[in-house]
Amino acid sequence: MIVVLHPESTPAQVEEASAFLAERGYTVHPIRGAERTVIAAAGGALADEPGASEQLLALAFVETVHLIDKPYKLAARAYRKEPTVIDVRGVSIGGENVVIMAGPCTVESREQLLETAREVKRLGATVLRGGAYKPSTSPYSFQGMGIEGLKLLAEAREETGLPVITEVMDLRNVELVCQYADILQIGTRNMQNYDLLREVGNVRTPVCLKRGMSAKIEEWLQAAEYILTRGNPNVMLCERGIRTFETYTRNTLDLSAVPAAKELSHLPVIVDPSQGTGRASLVQSLCRGAVAVGADALLIEVHPHPERALKDGPQQVTPELFARLMDEIRPIARAVGRTL
Ligand code: PEP
Ligand code: MN
Repeated sequence: MIVVLHPESTPAQVEEASAFLAERGYTVHPIRGAERTVIAAAGGALADEPGASEQLLALAFVETVHLIDKPYKLAARAYRKEPTVIDVRGVSIGGENVVIMAGPCTVESREQLLETAREVKRLGATVLRGGAYKPSTSPYSFQGMGIEGLKLLAEAREETGLPVITEVMDLRNVELVCQYADILQIGTRNMQNYDLLREVGNVRTPVCLKRGMSAKIEEWLQAAEYILTRGNPNVMLCERGIRTFETYTRNTLDLSAVPAAKELSHLPVIVDPSQGTGRASLVQSLCRGAVAVGADALLIEVHPHPERALKDGPQQVTPELFARLMDEIRPIARAVGRTL
């Protein structure tokens, strides 16, 4: 780290800060300029673990502290040069193939789920999505079918062969959801639920970590680090839109986060244009954009009758629209060196 001291700091204060760092295992190099002194400190605990930078800032004569190391290690590109490829029942996520995960926002009934699963499979999806436990802003809106929804997802998997991604909201349900899900989804509202992150880190079921709606990219990577440090290496990141001043779209889908996350990390990156826009009419264009900027997978909400959906009707595409968007993204995948 680089510690910048106030211009009027005294030699005794430079000594005090240097001793503080040396005690914590840093090799300390004070650099005395004409106006002020900075201290270069190397080799301390990774990612400033003991919080030395904050403690230093509590000293009145310390102006700023710049951390050089990333606050995450296992998720960092430097840790693993090769991109991580996650195998989900024979579907590779993070490899050459762009994976399409599609299905309803929420499991609503046997008929709705099976009809959607058959359609998305026929049209080229290789993973089935569907929420059994739904995070809702309003306690009055549909909260999902719970375990009955999980059982229906298992039935749809049995019939179609499509592996299943579904959300786990409560750390007490991780074991249960693992019995039914092939990928555990951590929703945007839980990106910083550290107990839940630790719990899904303890299992080996792949985890799709959605970006918090107000989370910076490196906060998202630190959330991934919580899972990785517990031993689960199968983490994929999902950009699903962030809160901005714009209200025409439900969220602002941050496509720049895809190449940015890939620059910083080896983990696969998924894009969810459904939550990202909130509008079925925009999903198609954002799918094209997501493939063009290098997304490893798309997570798309498809409903046979969006006007009857119990949740997120305006953003769910019909199978007809899904078919068209699949046709549109194939040549884009080829153009960026991917298959689909
Ligand atoms: C969803 O995928 O239906 C969902 C609720 O996602 P998010 O957590 O991104 O809002
Ligand atoms: Mn939804």
